[in-house]
Amino acid sequence: MRWLTSLRWRLFGSYMLISLLSMLLLLLISHVITQGEVLATAAAVISAASVSLYLSQRLIRPLQQLSAASQRIAMGSYHTRVEVGYPDELATLSQQMNQLAQALEQTEQRRMALLTDVAHELRTPIMTIDSYAEGMIDGIIPVEPASLTLIQRETARMKRLVEDLALLSRAEAGQLPVNMRPVDLIALIDYLVTQIGSQCEEEGLQLHVDLPQNLPLVQADLQRIEQVLINVLVNAIRYTPAGGTIRISAERHATMVCVAVHDTGIGIAPENLPLIFERFYRTDSSRLRHSGGVGVGLTIARHLMHAQHGEIWAESPGIDAGTIFFISLTIAH
Ligand code: ADP
Repeated sequence: MRWLTSLRWRLFGSYMLISLLSMLLLLLISHVITQGEVLATAAAVISAASVSLYLSQRLIRPLQQLSAASQRIAMGSYHTRVEVGYPDELATLSQQMNQLAQALEQTEQRRMALLTDVAHELRTPIMTIDSYAEGMIDGIIPVEPASLTLIQRETARMKRLVEDLALLSRAEAGQLPVNMRPVDLIALIDYLVTQIGSQCEEEGLQLHVDLPQNLPLVQADLQRIEQVLINVLVNAIRYTPAGGTIRISAERHATMVCVAVHDTGIGIAPENLPLIFERFYRTDSSRLRHSGGVGVGLTIARHLMHAQHGEIWAESPGIDAGTIFFISLTIAH
């Protein structure tokens, strides 16, 4: 008897009830029932039943499709889409179901891409450590500081990857707590310059700092903005060959302060510029340099900037023509 409680039969029943009541009302009004009226009533009941059945069927079909689609999506078929019919409330529901499926499909694709990328990034250090350890066991590679340092460098690479991934997953889940307060960017940049000054010298790079005297304080999280600036500065050093220059400047724009880190390094091709903030993305020229990270630094930096209601972007005239990274933050009141 469960079918009696299904939506289809409940709809059908209510249509029928309304039709029967209207006919009863008509008969009561006309008082006398002739044979012709009995026939007409019977014909009306049959047509009302057919129309009710047809209408409830039409209403139920999209709901059945939605139910089947949601079951398929729940079982992992994220490519499932529902047909969006006549523009009514059910069509809106179908559209929303399709959007949900699309979002789940994209998340799944990103998850798969992440797994592939992580496996790829871990393979190189693991293979290096494995072959060195095997060589040492077999006595082919001498157990000396140089070989052990190499192993240590590769484990450090894996450690950095794991730490970056932990931070990235928290950032992508929107779980990076920020402690916003007025920050003096000039003091912070001065401090960072003292930190990277000797490294620039070692790499044969010139470092210029060009900051205005009266830069207003910005609303930011001191540790997070420091992390972003370090990432951009380390990249500038990393991707600028000896003899190049790194210039740090800052400007006030209406309600924002914009810091620019300009280098004369390997540059970025225009088609690659939008990609550098995607995780694990590294341009071909940076891969060739064999130095550098795994390509998540800028992804994390963008999340950190958004968490502080700021922005980070890059411009470059092209390959070997240098790059400028811009970081903007709101002025503190
Ligand atoms: P990585 O750890 O590989 O440097 P990032 O996320 O910090 O990762 O940077 C992503 C990619 O963006 C780099 O691999 C490099 O291809 C490019 N890139 C970043 N900064 C610069 C720069 N100053 N000059 C040229 N290319 C850069």
